[in-house]
Amino acid sequence: MQRLDQQFIDNQWVRSRGNHYLPVMNPYHEEMIAEVTAGATEDVQAAVSAARRALPAWRSLGGARRASYLDHLADGLTRRREALIRLSSTNNGKVLSEAAIDLDDAIACYRYYADQARRLEARQGVAITTEMTGIEARCYQDPVGVVGLITPWNFPLVTSAWKVAPALAAGCTVVLKPSEVTPLPEQALAEIALEIGLPAGVFNLLNGDGDGIGAPLSRHPGIDKISFTGSNRVGEAVMTAAAERTAGVSLELGGKSPILVMEDADPDQAAEWVMAGIYFNAGQLCSATSRLLVHEAVAAPLYAALEARIDALVLGDPLAAGTDMGPLASARQRDAVNRYLAVAEQEGLDVARDARHRQLPQRGYFVAPTLYRDVPLTSRLWKEEIFGPVLCGHSIESEQEAIALANDSDFGLAATVISGDGARARRIGRELRAGTIWVNSEQLVLPETSWGGFGRSGIGRELGPWGLASYLEVKHVIGPAA
Ligand code: NAD
Repeated sequence: MQRLDQQFIDNQWVRSRGNHYLPVMNPYHEEMIAEVTAGATEDVQAAVSAARRALPAWRSLGGARRASYLDHLADGLTRRREALIRLSSTNNGKVLSEAAIDLDDAIACYRYYADQARRLEARQGVAITTEMTGIEARCYQDPVGVVGLITPWNFPLVTSAWKVAPALAAGCTVVLKPSEVTPLPEQALAEIALEIGLPAGVFNLLNGDGDGIGAPLSRHPGIDKISFTGSNRVGEAVMTAAAERTAGVSLELGGKSPILVMEDADPDQAAEWVMAGIYFNAGQLCSATSRLLVHEAVAAPLYAALEARIDALVLGDPLAAGTDMGPLASARQRDAVNRYLAVAEQEGLDVARDARHRQLPQRGYFVAPTLYRDVPLTSRLWKEEIFGPVLCGHSIESEQEAIALANDSDFGLAATVISGDGARARRIGRELRAGTIWVNSEQLVLPETSWGGFGRSGIGRELGPWGLASYLEVKHVIGPAA
């Protein structure tokens, strides 16, 4: 069995100073497939020191040369594509087709930021026009410095690509900490870094959990900025640690996103988009559109279309062709979702579909795709992020009510609007308080667009030029024209 007891620091694999190991599971077989070091503060110290040493040369290398390394990283992932898709599926439980989408998104992200790195070079020293004569003002964008990147388990390789690619493009050096639940796919990044001759210390990878690596990394005075994706509870702890030394933070946290189905929508088409918004990745999506606001005029046909589609979903081995939904990524996550299902029972929610409507596979951390109708707005299931395949429906009578209820959330990550009238859907979308609004669409995510949320969904934006900007400091040089 594989033992991840090494850390990737300064382009070398070095033995972790951690004193215990954590199991890495296959969530379908419920078997341990590896163990991973919990990590230690000494590992963080060594990685941050390496990243600091590497920073001046990497920063001075220029965007064009950094871009070529990013292209090579994308090439390295492309060469390993088939193996990484299977590994991701095995470690996370996601079906192969979804693991393939993830990997292709990650590759596209490295390529996009290679292009952004080239463009960044062209923007350095741009003159700013001022009213004052005889004054020359020029603008530069410098890297933030050494950055700590902490990622969750639901989209390994994608969430890290969204951080590593713009950080390297900007000229930052990085210390990446993948989730201890799904550390296996990310190890490839270190192998590729060696293969492509990335300068030592530019990319460091630390295996471990929150106590062993995450917390010491967040507190470390040598880290100029932390970019974190994960739960609100941990995000707040990371922000508190960063605040103690006025370090920057970007946070991508939870969501409780709405999907609005208006009275002019085609219920069958709407059902396709509703399904994709909640049962993709077994609902372990921060952008899961888990609150269905359906106009009462189409509620009955929509629920019928959803029930038929839920019944047709094939649950099983994520590596098998024909499986639509795999297990949840961990026993812990399955138990967390099951606790919500118990609350639903206590609250007496109207169950349209749950485990009583199907045979679950004999093994694996499965939760049946679940649908509740007419969920009261006071229900915990309506308000809290569940992070599993659980959809809550609620009927609305008007557009105004739909908008008001959609915006009635502490979170504001994403939303979907479905209407037979595309212009109307866009107009409603503009009224919603969320970082990404899909109109008459599945959840398209493109590297050129932005990702991040309002309210408790986080701070800052990833992807697009905003993703790069979060790893840059703006600097002016101003004085009498030379
Ligand atoms: P989590 O917060 O438990 O863990 C995330 C990462 O933080 C892991 O790498 C973990 O080891 C690390 N960590 C744990 N304790 C830490 C500490 N004290 N200090 C620093 N790091 C620590 O989250 P999770 O269970 O891995 O992921 C699920 C959550 O992530 C959900 O709430 C989901 O909404 C959110 N998420 C958000 C986005 C987004 O883009 N907004 C994307 C994916 C997941």
